[in-house]
Amino acid sequence: MVALMLFILLAIITVFGWYSVQRGVHEHHHDMEVLRDIENVFHEFNTRYQNVKFTTMEFMIEPDKKHHQAYLDSLDNLIRTFEQFNRINHGNIDHGFLEQLDQLGKNIEQCRTELDQAVKVRLDAEKTFPFTTIMLALNTDNIEILSLINNILLSASREDLPYETRTRLSDIRYTWVRMMAEFRLLVSVRFGIFTGDWTAAFRDRVNNIKMYFSRLDQLLEELKQEKDRDRLSLEIEADIASLNRQIEDAVQYYRYAISMLNAPDWRQDIVLLGEKIRPAFEHLDSSFNQLHIKIEDIRTASMMQLTSLARQLSDSLWFLFAVGSLLILLGYIIFSRTILMPISQVAQALEDEAGGRKASIKTRSSAQEIRQLTEAFDKMRRQVQSRQQRLVNILDNAAEAIITIDSQGNIETFNAAAEQLFGYRAEEVLGKSVRILIPEENLENYRLLLTGQLVSDDSKSNGESARAFEIDILTKSARRVPVSIKISKTLIDGSTLYTALVVDISERLAREKERQEHIAEMAHAGRLSIMGEMAAGIAHELNQPLAAMSLYLQASLRRCDPEADTCKDIIKAVNSSIEQVERASEIIRKMRSFAHRETFHLEQADLNNIIRKSVDLVLISQQNISPRPELELEPSSLVVNVDVLQIEQVMINLIRNAFDAMQDIAEEQRSLLIKSEIDDKGYVRVSVYDAGEGVSRENVDRIFDTYFTTKADGLGMGLSICRSIIEEHNGVLWYREREEGGSQFCFILPLAGSDNDRPPPDRQETG
Ligand code: ADP
Repeated sequence: MVALMLFILLAIITVFGWYSVQRGVHEHHHDMEVLRDIENVFHEFNTRYQNVKFTTMEFMIEPDKKHHQAYLDSLDNLIRTFEQFNRINHGNIDHGFLEQLDQLGKNIEQCRTELDQAVKVRLDAEKTFPFTTIMLALNTDNIEILSLINNILLSASREDLPYETRTRLSDIRYTWVRMMAEFRLLVSVRFGIFTGDWTAAFRDRVNNIKMYFSRLDQLLEELKQEKDRDRLSLEIEADIASLNRQIEDAVQYYRYAISMLNAPDWRQDIVLLGEKIRPAFEHLDSSFNQLHIKIEDIRTASMMQLTSLARQLSDSLWFLFAVGSLLILLGYIIFSRTILMPISQVAQALEDEAGGRKASIKTRSSAQEIRQLTEAFDKMRRQVQSRQQRLVNILDNAAEAIITIDSQGNIETFNAAAEQLFGYRAEEVLGKSVRILIPEENLENYRLLLTGQLVSDDSKSNGESARAFEIDILTKSARRVPVSIKISKTLIDGSTLYTALVVDISERLAREKERQEHIAEMAHAGRLSIMGEMAAGIAHELNQPLAAMSLYLQASLRRCDPEADTCKDIIKAVNSSIEQVERASEIIRKMRSFAHRETFHLEQADLNNIIRKSVDLVLISQQNISPRPELELEPSSLVVNVDVLQIEQVMINLIRNAFDAMQDIAEEQRSLLIKSEIDDKGYVRVSVYDAGEGVSRENVDRIFDTYFTTKADGLGMGLSICRSIIEEHNGVLWYREREEGGSQFCFILPLAGSDNDRPPPDRQETG
């Protein structure tokens, strides 16, 4: 706003200055035009005036008609020229000039009157003293002499006329012309045309003329004396002789005319003629000169005006320069305060923001656009900050350690999870090489990791991404921690930035180890169960024959006479056999009791968890199976009092059997569902459904028998062990055919806290 007002002020001043200078220049220009017109007329007037003087003199010398007319015409012309002065638009011309002009006009009139009187006197005088006649005769002589000399010079060829003769003839012509001019002057002096002492002037002219005469005499004499005279042609000789004669005659006549002019009885009025003509011209001369001076004055004044105008212009320019500079300075200050400063602050703030420093804008500009710019920047800054904060929060709250590394391998960011994992605080590692976080022997791997040469088919890669690897890292306390590292590469401003996502996998590895151990344990427990079952079977099978053997041996003993000598050894042997049979029975009994599951660790557990864990174990141990078992578990926990390991074994057995049964059918037709619920009698019921071939009718009653199997590599122990485990937990395990095809194996177990001692319900009843 202020800038606009200043600009308007400057514009007004400029326009005003420009106008006044322009007006001054215009005035001066007009004056100069007037002056030019005046001077033109003045020069014209001067010429005319000189002409009047000339014609007057000519008339005085030869007052014939022709000269009289010329005199009258020149006067008319003078007056006409004078009138041109009045036709000029004098404009601002000084009044003194006009007065002078007036005076000049009057003087012309007066001059005319006086000259007219003089002319009259001269005409009168001519009547009594016809000097014109003498002048005419002299003129004729002059013409003849000059034309004669010209004739000689022109007609004679170079060879005819010697150089000296030619030179002398030219000299004669020159001297004659000078003499003629002098004589005309003499006449005009006599008739008073010239100012000053006429008698002295008259005498001087006469002396000059006499000098020319004697010079002519001398030249003519020389001409006669020339030694090359003989070379001249007769014609030229004659011409020269006639020239000699004519000059002598003319000189005589001139002398007569001069004596006439000098005669003492010269008319008085003629003598006084000069007294009339001179003042007439003198007045006109003076007013003419005055006018000339006035014109010079006007020119000077105009130049002065121009000078002052120039000074004024220069002053105005200085003023304009000063005001303009001031305005520019002011404008610059305003511009820099309202535009440059805010812009540079915005730029500085942007730079700060980019450099991660806290940025703020202090100056608020009044220019709307700049205000908008600063506000927009502020808004952007807040958004960037909030985004940055969010990013920092995300980074800090991320479960994974996130480290960014520049192309030189130096750490740029180090989030909270990274601090926790590595034991360093961010300030300790920022800007340092990432090598401090890697054990010596892994540095090569790390290098390969960054250069992308460590590829995903590495045995340790977790398969999720081409750049996730499992290696050890080094914590601040020099502890090695196994981690999974995923590195992504970004190109920012032409330099590479690596982002490493580091996940501590020590727990996962520990869990995996535990699980492996568990599987091994399960296998061991399975083997033990099978052994126990086998031992029980063997014991059962051997007990009968051993008991029979014992009976037979005792009967044999009774039939022997203990006194008879022949029997003594038999009795001894039979007794030994009985002893051995009893020993065998004892061994079998001991074997049975050893194989019997004495390691029965009852504990309260959620059956749902047991199911989940069993499914996991099957999936881990048999990786290529599909589909994943579908779970439909009772939402509430199903707490049972069981040997967890054994129930897991049951579940694993049932799941494996189900997968075995579906081995030969197409993958998309396979399905495996595991359900847990509380039945209407308050038992926990677990059902395993499969879509396999099911159990054929003739085998239905045998599948739970020990050693019954339909599989080529089967032992036929699984189901029988399962049943005995479930029954030992006061539960029931049974099979049921599914209408849609496939098998359904179910077991029930009492809930913990319920009456565990009650006998298991009838299988059929439950089914
Ligand atoms: P094995 O698995 O070693 O054969 P089991 O006692 O676990 O011993 O199983 C006995 C038999 O019962 C199996 O050979 C099979 O014929 C039958 N059987 C078990 N589970 C299923 C099932 N889900 N579907 C069809 N048949 C089964």
